[in-house]
Amino acid sequence: MKNIVLFGPPGAGKGTQSTNIIEKYALIHLSTGDLLRAEKAAGTELGLKAKEFMEKGDLVPDSVVIGMIENKVKANPDANGFVFDGFPRTIAQAEALDQTLQENGLSISKMIALEVDDDELIKRLLERGKVSNRPDDQNEEIIANRIKVYNAETAPVADFYKKQDKFTSVKGIGSIDDIFESLCKVIDQL
Ligand code: AMP
Repeated sequence: MKNIVLFGPPGAGKGTQSTNIIEKYALIHLSTGDLLRAEKAAGTELGLKAKEFMEKGDLVPDSVVIGMIENKVKANPDANGFVFDGFPRTIAQAEALDQTLQENGLSISKMIALEVDDDELIKRLLERGKVSNRPDDQNEEIIANRIKVYNAETAPVADFYKKQDKFTSVKGIGSIDDIFESLCKVIDQL
């Protein structure tokens, strides 16, 4: 059972590498960003509530994303494991995740952080904005806010896993294949 938190700032490559990881290790990909965008596209009440935060690059309230993740973990009792992508983004989310996993007889195996500097992140997000149709990838002010929110609210989540001796990082710059190989070296040891 491998339960991985793939960590890093917006544009670090979490989505791309999650896709590679779930395919190779037959895990379930849980991206709160993807789940929220699906709710938004479906026009649900939750999606409409989340929209105002997402469009500014602010975090959606903890209770919303925690509830979504709890449902997904409970709905997949036979999973080989999960890749959490874009979650947890606050200490409260990390605590709630630990509790949910514990209630289901599970725990996080490792947090793996993708390290990418800010200049590269902004470049990547603006490039992605040209094809992703995501409003939050198309505006430099919103991108800057997402990085600011990451540094203020999300970066401390690494310490939460460091204290549990579950943190490691890999360089998130280079070819997608090379970065994936670095990730596999970590995952193979779990
Ligand atoms: P992402 O696709 O991970 O970049 O997420 C896009 C947006 O969705 C973020 O800028 C937040 O507004 C929201 N979001 C995604 N995941 C979370 C989370 N774990 N906690 C709060 N907001 C989130």
